[in-house]
Amino acid sequence: IKVQDYRPQAFTDFTKEENVQAYRAALQKVRAELLGKHYPLVIDGERVDTAEKIESRNPCDTNELVGTTSKATTEDAERALQGAWKAFESWKKWDMDARARILLKAAAILKRRRLEACALMSIEVGKNYAEADVEVAEAIDFLEYYARSAMKYSGFGSSETTWFEGEENGLMSIPLGVGVSISPWNFPCAIYLGMLAAPIVAGNCVIAKPAEDAGLIAGFVSDIMFEAGLPAGVLQFLPGVGKEIGEYLTNHAKTRFITFTGSRAVGLHINEVAAKVQPGQKWIKRVVMELGGKDAMIVDETADLDVAVTAAVQGAFGFNGQKCSAMSRLIVVDEVYDAVVSQFVERARALKVGTGEDNANVTAVVNEMSFNKIKGYLDRAPQEGQVLLGGGAPGECAGKPGYYIDATIVGDVKRDSPMAQEEIFGPVVTVLRARDWQDALDIANSTEYGLTGGVCSSSRERLEQARAEFEVGNLYFNRKITGAIVGVQPFGGYNMSGTDSKAGGPDYLANFMQLKTVTERW
Ligand code: NAD
Repeated sequence: IKVQDYRPQAFTDFTKEENVQAYRAALQKVRAELLGKHYPLVIDGERVDTAEKIESRNPCDTNELVGTTSKATTEDAERALQGAWKAFESWKKWDMDARARILLKAAAILKRRRLEACALMSIEVGKNYAEADVEVAEAIDFLEYYARSAMKYSGFGSSETTWFEGEENGLMSIPLGVGVSISPWNFPCAIYLGMLAAPIVAGNCVIAKPAEDAGLIAGFVSDIMFEAGLPAGVLQFLPGVGKEIGEYLTNHAKTRFITFTGSRAVGLHINEVAAKVQPGQKWIKRVVMELGGKDAMIVDETADLDVAVTAAVQGAFGFNGQKCSAMSRLIVVDEVYDAVVSQFVERARALKVGTGEDNANVTAVVNEMSFNKIKGYLDRAPQEGQVLLGGGAPGECAGKPGYYIDATIVGDVKRDSPMAQEEIFGPVVTVLRARDWQDALDIANSTEYGLTGGVCSSSRERLEQARAEFEVGNLYFNRKITGAIVGVQPFGGYNMSGTDSKAGGPDYLANFMQLKTVTERW
């Protein structure tokens, strides 16, 4: 196929009034056309309704029902799995280029519907304009990038092998079979889509189980994949409860691979379930995991403090800290601690609270369970440090009930305390005081996670030391630690943060393929 080189999508500039107006118009359109919509399951190309439904509510106004999806039963999951294996028989034989074309077509459709996808996420999960915009850009990037990755595998023996006289040798990459893709609610467009598009373009069939809190956007983008021409059964859209159908599918003898993004607890559980060989199972299930983080940014005494404070505010509070990459620990060298922390608190105090639709900086967290979990940390915060900002969980904003948590900063927290070790996943930052640079790096490496990290410093020697010793999958210097761009910053973590599979990276598709070496003696 003739395509131009991959380039990430540009982000929308919301300082321009016309872009804000276009976004508001999209919100109106989505409210008129999509609110209250119901997405049934899609199994073997057929829409299938279920007796029970999953409700999706607006976290910024919990009285509002955004829409519903069907709720798959284990019988539905069984049918989806059997149907996907049938579809695999022909899908695996498709040419890589032909499969890539479907992703390119889907990208083109999503580009046309970009604003609608954004607006839907503002209502369904409370993303503000910029957060929703970068996410839909990322979703398009995944499609464009993985399509091009697939093209590189086109043809027999596409990987390099060394020439050997008298023989033809070839190394083929072939798909694995049928897998399950289980995704989180926090990037319900980009991660959901990326996690199904990559295995699919590599020739696998996928049962996609979106998160319970964001079924509508998942239904919306799945429909785009169908519209782009995916044959029946290649993508089975299966919203349902994780503990029910997620568990059923990860257990199943016929599941070949599991790609999971979510919490450490659920990920480790799935890893254990998948490791157990079931009667009739022919393979060792492949498991690809992207889990949580307790991501730290270090600020030392040589840093440009303004750059550091901007990076801290953006990294900590973007989408209310509900990113696996969010800066939840700020580690500041004693010499500049007071200056950095006081500016950080002042800047965070100015953040506007409200709904995603109103384009607020801090909106409501996703659901009641999350709200209660974060509130638990806030209740214990005075025992663990000094609450410098926030600390409350008002549970409403402008008279509307919603899962609102104050932007919170807790200073002088000890490195081994729960607030410094556990993922809180909300607008809550733990600040730690380090004696010096080396102490700061030791603190940064003191959790079991290893997803993102950052250093604000002007010392070349220290940046080089961090490059080698900071134990994270994605390391950033003198900027925020969130916002990895597909192809530019391949993303994924070490240690308990996952299997370091690097979504949006040059080898990501290999996670969903197996290699076969074929030799013919002449
Ligand atoms: P979660 O673990 O609660 O749920 C993730 C998915 O797993 C959901 O679809 C859920 O229904 C399903 N699930 C739950 N129990 C299951 C079971 N027993 N078997 C199979 N599936 C099951 O996570 P979440 O709250 O949706 O997402 C937030 C978490 O995701 C955070 O920890 C965050 O750090 C992490 N995350 C990581 C990355 C990354 O790239 N490393 C990206 C985004 C989010």
